[in-house]
Amino acid sequence: MGRRSAAGGESPRMPRLIRPSSPFPRARGSLILHALRAVMPSVYIKTYGCQMNERDSEAVSAQLVAKGYTLAPSESTADVVLLNTCSIRDMAEQKAINKMQNLIAESRRNRPGVVFGFMGCMAQSRGQRLIDRLPDVDLVVGTQKFHRTAEHLDTLLKGPRRKVVDIGPEEGSQSTIREHLLNGQVSRTAVTAFVSIMQGCNQHCTFCIVPQTRGSERSRTIGDIVAECRELVSRGVREITLLGQIVTSFGRRDIAPVQGRSGFVQLLEAVQDIDGLERIRFTSPHPKGYGDDLVEAYGRLSKLVESAHLPVQSGSDRMLKAMHRGYTREQFLKLIGKLRGVQPGMGITTDIIVGFPGETDDDFARTLSLVREVDFDMAFIFKYSPRHNTPAAALPDQLPRAMREERNQALLEVMNDIAARRYGAFVGRTVEILVEGPSRKNPARLMGRTRCNKIVVFEGGERHRDQVMDVRVTRSGGFTLYGDPAIVNLEPASHAAAPHLPAPIS
Ligand code: SAM
Repeated sequence: MGRRSAAGGESPRMPRLIRPSSPFPRARGSLILHALRAVMPSVYIKTYGCQMNERDSEAVSAQLVAKGYTLAPSESTADVVLLNTCSIRDMAEQKAINKMQNLIAESRRNRPGVVFGFMGCMAQSRGQRLIDRLPDVDLVVGTQKFHRTAEHLDTLLKGPRRKVVDIGPEEGSQSTIREHLLNGQVSRTAVTAFVSIMQGCNQHCTFCIVPQTRGSERSRTIGDIVAECRELVSRGVREITLLGQIVTSFGRRDIAPVQGRSGFVQLLEAVQDIDGLERIRFTSPHPKGYGDDLVEAYGRLSKLVESAHLPVQSGSDRMLKAMHRGYTREQFLKLIGKLRGVQPGMGITTDIIVGFPGETDDDFARTLSLVREVDFDMAFIFKYSPRHNTPAAALPDQLPRAMREERNQALLEVMNDIAARRYGAFVGRTVEILVEGPSRKNPARLMGRTRCNKIVVFEGGERHRDQVMDVRVTRSGGFTLYGDPAIVNLEPASHAAAPHLPAPIS
């Protein structure tokens, strides 16, 4: 209540904020703007969930920086704390709610006046209920309103603090996630970037909450996306990952196929034509979206890397049907065969749900056998989590938690064995990597990625940064390869060069 009673007036942190009639005195010239930036409120955004959420947070951060806000290095010093949430599983939602509770308690004790907000998927699905549960939350911004965050913060910070819940649909919102932080408050320009190409999902898998949180499919135009990619490349980006909830559905309703090539393949072709770009990735696709035109593109487009994420979810046709996935095990295996036919060294990863309602021992055994048969490089394994208002949540035969946990462990073990063999097979080979920056676990080392999406860690120096170069793999561990610095050879970047991929491992 302490903070709310202060809501009509100033918060103790806010004297730092100088408020001219417009909070952003651009008209007075860049010098004044520069000076004021130092005293503008600082914002910290914590992101939960997928790359789409990371990208949304980055765009909001960039929009805030453009308005003069600063980015706080941690939540403990920020004037505004925003949690960008994920709803895919209950655990992700609970984590964000617990985090907010802790932040609020800490703020009440030590730093009253902090502005708190939820953004993204859980904000969209729960809306006002979040404020009913946590009355100290000031702002709830849905998935079609990210670009309004800065505007809402301006209003809140000017006071009085009236709660804002903005979760309605907005036409054209798919085109508003475009700003990048390249020249924001990061010291270096990144060499890789995510570009959001569409929003929403029309698949309606029975387990999935995404159509509720992200709405139906809406695509940007190819011209708009290419312009953003060109801009990124002009600032030093060499690898772009195209993002969407079901990226392979891009342009399905707006872009007519040309000579059998879908809107998505037309987009890949347009991005391929950008001079200076080395690599193109995309996520997250749907197996149904891999038509022959896309399979063929892997052999034709030199910048499209040999990597495919194919969320299979289950190896049992009975489960696939209950999940409303729209393909069978046999069709999935056929697709894998086609992809490896075009690119034998293709890195193939997947998502799998264990413990879907009604999943029998036999269904699960089929998933295990599919994983062995495909020989995936990596799998994200999810324990089924019932989601509000999804058809699967109402199915009988919900499996006990212990059984979901047991199956999760069993599948993890199988996947780890496969990965140990597949990653081990790289040892002694030379691979082409794009060096992305310091390794996350040990920032004294550098980390790069192969075209087939394997992380390679090595002890390099400044001269290796941002380079496309060859590294000899000396050992593997978990889902990481390690390269020997003594035998790293810098080579001129050439996306046309054949990638140094291992032969298929059978
Ligand atoms: N494009 C993907 C596809 O083909 O379905 C969807 C990506 S979804 C954001 C990431 C993954 O979360 C899904 O592939 C699925 O494995 C998992 N997931 C979604 N809903 C889930 C639920 N209710 N319980 C457990 N895992 C879930």
